[in-house]
Amino acid sequence: MDRGIAEPLLSREEISARTAQMAEEITRDYRDRDLVMVGVLKGAFVFLADLAREVDLPLEIDFVAVSSYGVDTESSGVVKIVKDLDLEITGKDVLLVEDIVDTGLTLKYLTAMLRDRGPASVSICALLNKPDARKVDLEVRYCGFDVPAKFVVGYGLDYAERYRQLPYVGVLEDEGSGGTG
Ligand code: 5GP
Repeated sequence: MDRGIAEPLLSREEISARTAQMAEEITRDYRDRDLVMVGVLKGAFVFLADLAREVDLPLEIDFVAVSSYGVDTESSGVVKIVKDLDLEITGKDVLLVEDIVDTGLTLKYLTAMLRDRGPASVSICALLNKPDARKVDLEVRYCGFDVPAKFVVGYGLDYAERYRQLPYVGVLEDEGSGGTG
């Protein structure tokens, strides 16, 4: 096991099998639609790369990067857009692809922001979901795995910018926060 990882939670094989299933659902649901997959940087870059390659449809890919407004973020749910979309999404079907949904505040904010631009639809696809940590109502249309409210890393997820490259998801030894997405 890699240094700093207390327990592996999801193996690369489990992630890969579930990603293929999710991609199948997305392929079915978005046939004849105008799909734009939007990854939330940085954490979603690995998942988006694997997911998009399993979706058997023409599609566009773009990214947004967000950062918190400091201590107020948790209560206000306001996030700062560090990198906005390059693509126009008016009339298109946007699928927001995220590594993990925790409180739900980030995606609540992003969904509302993107809906203001007149897309045909905005849905959420997340590899991981912490249902026990949710603070706002949020529909996660495609959800890979429910995980306990522990701090996880790997497969795109970081602790202080480390561990993103791990091909699996694990629980950090010294549980804490520090993920920057
Ligand atoms: P939310 O707005 O749903 O509370 O926050 C979602 C973001 O918080 C994720 O995109 C991720 O950046 C970060 N986050 C939440 N839980 C974890 C976790 O267990 N590990 C890591 N590395 N980041 C997390």
